[in-house]
Amino acid sequence: MSSKTKECPGCAMDVDDDATACPICGYEFPERPRWIIWLAVVLLVAILWLWIF
Ligand SMILES: [Zn+2]
Repeated sequence: MSSKTKECPGCAMDVDDDATACPICGYEFPERPRWIIWLAVVLLVAILWLWIF
């Protein structure tokens, strides 16, 4: 059971963070898999590391 929620930009209601579409107004959230966030973090660290050395 997930306790995280996100605000729907369509109806401003809190919906489940894992929902791909709002159950109230049907707004479809853009998909952003977690590995993309991790990839961005890893790339940022790699760039900083190369920049320092
Ligand atoms: Zn909505």
